Amino acid sequence: MTADTITAEATAGAAWHDVGFLALNAGSSSLKFAVFPAQGETALATGQADRIGPEGTLKIKDAAGQPIEPAQGALTSHDTALAIVIATLKRAFPDLRIAAVGHRVVHGGIHYTAPVVVDENVLQTLSTLSSFAPLHQPHNMSGIRAAMEAFPGVAQIACFDTAFHRGQPLVNDMFALPHRYYEQGVRRYGFHGLSYEYITGEMARIAPHLMAGRVVVAHLGNGASMCAIYRGRSVASSMGFSALDGLPMGTRCGQLDPGVMLYMLDQEKLNTAQIRQILYNESGLLGLSGGLSNDMRTLEEADTPESHRTIDYFVFRIQRELGAMAAVMGGIDALVFCGGIGENSRVIRRRVCERLGWMGIEIDHGRNAESATVISSEFARTTVMIVPTREDLVIARAARAAVGLPETAAT
Ligand code: AMP
Repeated sequence: MTADTITAEATAGAAWHDVGFLALNAGSSSLKFAVFPAQGETALATGQADRIGPEGTLKIKDAAGQPIEPAQGALTSHDTALAIVIATLKRAFPDLRIAAVGHRVVHGGIHYTAPVVVDENVLQTLSTLSSFAPLHQPHNMSGIRAAMEAFPGVAQIACFDTAFHRGQPLVNDMFALPHRYYEQGVRRYGFHGLSYEYITGEMARIAPHLMAGRVVVAHLGNGASMCAIYRGRSVASSMGFSALDGLPMGTRCGQLDPGVMLYMLDQEKLNTAQIRQILYNESGLLGLSGGLSNDMRTLEEADTPESHRTIDYFVFRIQRELGAMAAVMGGIDALVFCGGIGENSRVIRRRVCERLGWMGIEIDHGRNAESATVISSEFARTTVMIVPTREDLVIARAARAAVGLPETAAT
């Protein structure tokens, strides 16, 4: 599979305005992507292939949000999905040359603290990390391999969800297990790092006085986590060794007493595949609501005892984590909401901030209803904000930087 007009020749001879950067996020059965021009934050096109396999679907839209008709073909694998995405983009942007491809990679292990240009050595290291993230890392790697084949000679940049947290203090990095596990790499890595990196950058731009202090970011989406950021650096995260820990998510359980897993093994005689299925796919909002939904919008609309207890639990866990993170930092100057729920659900934001006056948190209901950037009351000690996150942009910026193109390059 090769891409010609969306070409492998990188930037050679191309005017900057014809140069594009592809951000890829390959999940277990999905492929999200965005194409960015040489500069600017607006993607030329964004899209998502879902349910890769016989039932696969592909949606692409342009910068104005108008649908782009996908090229024909079956989305049977990540390779074929990428081939169809490229064919579609080629037709829509015939003069565009892809100069670098950035990839979201869930696990960078203990060494990668920044994006890295992928070569054979890096690929090998990333495969050794697959045992730490078996549900995500192999798919991220098949995305990289497919893009290498599609764009031979073009820089492939791996951007890690763990990198932002790598400077965490040792106490937040360890589990109280025999120390050999720590040495084997069983550590609290934390995830959603690309989102936290974006929010940190945005906060430094729009509220530098807050970013110089103690900030808790609540990334509340289908995956959900929180991060305590002290003077711009992650000092605690709710996710640990895997993307299961911390807050309850759409279908993932969040924090769980490991004794529960022993119960499932010993008493229910479940095997690891069955337990994995429960913890990753049948728990969280879906499990709490007795199978009603993993989607917060549906739960908010449902107004049933099941939806109430689910939302109560979600809010309770966020508040607990928030208190713990404020304690870790010796206080809190700002709480930032992001992710699909954090950015859109006024109900969850209001419920989370209720009864937190003792932390200086008090929201202005009018501003919250309008989803304003600052939703705290004028005289509240702690600023509460909504900052829409852009993981795709963090990836595109890393790809631009890898080919030496600054954000401000002339077109
Ligand atoms: P994400 O994974 O960041 O795309 O977030 C997905 C989650 O955001 C789902 O649970 C959605 O139901 C939730 N969400 C999106 N829009 C809204 C909304 N207006 N109100 C409540 N939840 C929302």
